[in-house]
Amino acid sequence: MIVGDGSRTSFWHDCWIASECLATKFQALYTHTMDNQISVKYALQQGLTASLVPRLSETARQECQCLQDLLQDFSLNNERDIRTGGIMGKFTTKNIYDTRLPPGISSPNWNLIWKCRAPLKVKLFAWLLVRDRLSTKQNLLKKKIVQNGVCDVCQQGDETADHMCFTCPFVQSFWERIRVNPTIQDVWLLHQLKPSPNVPELHHHVFFLLCMWAIWNHRHDVVFRGQTPSIRCCLQRCINEAALWAENLKIEDRHVISAWKNIFTSPLRSLNLM
Ligand SMILES: [Zn+2]
Repeated sequence: MIVGDGSRTSFWHDCWIASECLATKFQALYTHTMDNQISVKYALQQGLTASLVPRLSETARQECQCLQDLLQDFSLNNERDIRTGGIMGKFTTKNIYDTRLPPGISSPNWNLIWKCRAPLKVKLFAWLLVRDRLSTKQNLLKKKIVQNGVCDVCQQGDETADHMCFTCPFVQSFWERIRVNPTIQDVWLLHQLKPSPNVPELHHHVFFLLCMWAIWNHRHDVVFRGQTPSIRCCLQRCINEAALWAENLKIEDRHVISAWKNIFTSPLRSLNLM
């Protein structure tokens, strides 16, 4: 689980803050709950003790202390909780914290990604992308999960994060079609992306994340659903996603969505005419 507002995550039974669920990790304490169906939102807002019996055994009391220490740094936000396990594999909020940089080292990408107006699942995707933690073929090869690291979309180069976003011939053709030049070839330089003349300056990083998210998902359709690589499908996905992302923007900023849609619609029209 990636916890947003915590309302759809089971405090005791979902895997959200540790590698196992809290009912398993703190078994003694769990036997002292009066309501084991509480959400993370309820537990964090009402306090852990609100749903526990008044008297705890010594073991349960110690576990309660450990759990409170664990919860201390955790905070909720306004986004929906995300049940992972789909295309990004098993990620808990703890995994994301684990991919933070060592103390004292800051990344210009951190603020850009976590403060931008993209949906939470896309921020997660973007952070894993710039940290090279996505399940690209190259990363799967390192873990000996696949036999080779060749890109399934172009069959021409090794599928790294950089290849997938910038150097894959398929992706280069996508960028050309929408008349956007990303100007970088390294995902780690995401913060240096500058908008092309047809892309509004406002929220331009969100625009790039929208494109990369669509590319990543399309690649997934090619690899796992046997689809043929198609710029048309990629463009259509960008248009569909853009409509959904509007609610993440302030009302006065939503005009950028129309500009983005135009960027995808005109090449889509000319492809449909071919
Ligand atoms: Zn490729």
